[in-house]
Amino acid sequence: MRFQHILPRRAWLPLIAAVACRSTTPEIAPSAPPAPGGIAADVAYLAGPAFAGREAGTPGNDSAAVFLARRYQALGLQGAFPEICETGASCGATYFQYFKGQEIGGHNVGSYIRGSDPDLYRQFVVVGAHFDHLGRSPRFALDPDLLSSLRPGADDNASGTAAVLELARRLAANPPARSVLLVHFDAEEWGLIGSRAFALRPPIPASAIVFMLNLDMVGRLRGHDLLIDGSMGDSTSRALADSVTKAMKVPAARSSASAGRSDHVMFALISVPALSLTSGFHSDYHRVTDVASRIDVPGLTRIVDVAEGIVRAAATRNWPAHQSSSSISPR
Ligand SMILES: [Zn+2]
Repeated sequence: MRFQHILPRRAWLPLIAAVACRSTTPEIAPSAPPAPGGIAADVAYLAGPAFAGREAGTPGNDSAAVFLARRYQALGLQGAFPEICETGASCGATYFQYFKGQEIGGHNVGSYIRGSDPDLYRQFVVVGAHFDHLGRSPRFALDPDLLSSLRPGADDNASGTAAVLELARRLAANPPARSVLLVHFDAEEWGLIGSRAFALRPPIPASAIVFMLNLDMVGRLRGHDLLIDGSMGDSTSRALADSVTKAMKVPAARSSASAGRSDHVMFALISVPALSLTSGFHSDYHRVTDVASRIDVPGLTRIVDVAEGIVRAAATRNWPAHQSSSSISPR
């Protein structure tokens, strides 16, 4: 989650009104068996010394991006972005989407799972989480007196990153009707730079994206309510999230704590209904103490279960048509 007080709050336009037409309890499909290392191992590795806190523009961040791409390759999933060859033409797929912002450049990492329905596979649900954090930079830290100490970002956002990897594994084992695009955004901490680049140049038309689910800081549930920011969703997506949490008996609450502060904002700006899941802020946020040993692994796994339920329902049910429009200003 990005730090609010340093970066200016971005204005966003209200979503084009969309009318919910159905409200049914979604089916929760059984999950694939757990990965050998599991979510806890992924969080620990992502927040470990190998990636040095994953600060955008650093070698640790680059290594994390390659690690993520290799995980998709191991699942047999293709890259989500067009590879541009020397001729200027597109000639294949890559896991990386490079971008250059005013202050920082980076690379989103993405892959996709082809939907199982012969017609609906042309439509997409996007599942996203930022993978960058602060590394050794005190710039956005809340303990700047600790200077260049390593801030590993286990909750922010190794937790969401590991959750998306686990969702990819489960969804690839049993693809839903629509296709699912999995994307790890870079440079979120610098002001949603990676998701902005994605929304300005999505690898598929924005009109083909029915819904976006964001996961940011999902590792500290600890018996509290799961917080759902629905401020950028439409009534259909909000009802869908409510029915999934009720069906799974996961206590959940609407919250605007992350409104405007994570990557789902950028999807609202291209008129895609978007929700964000979080377990909320805590006293280790943007500090050196956001470490893997403080992650609530059963809570994180439960949030992945909910996310899987939401994605499967979103990838199957009817959605009201939304007009494609963008209110992201080019810089
Ligand atoms: Zn953050």
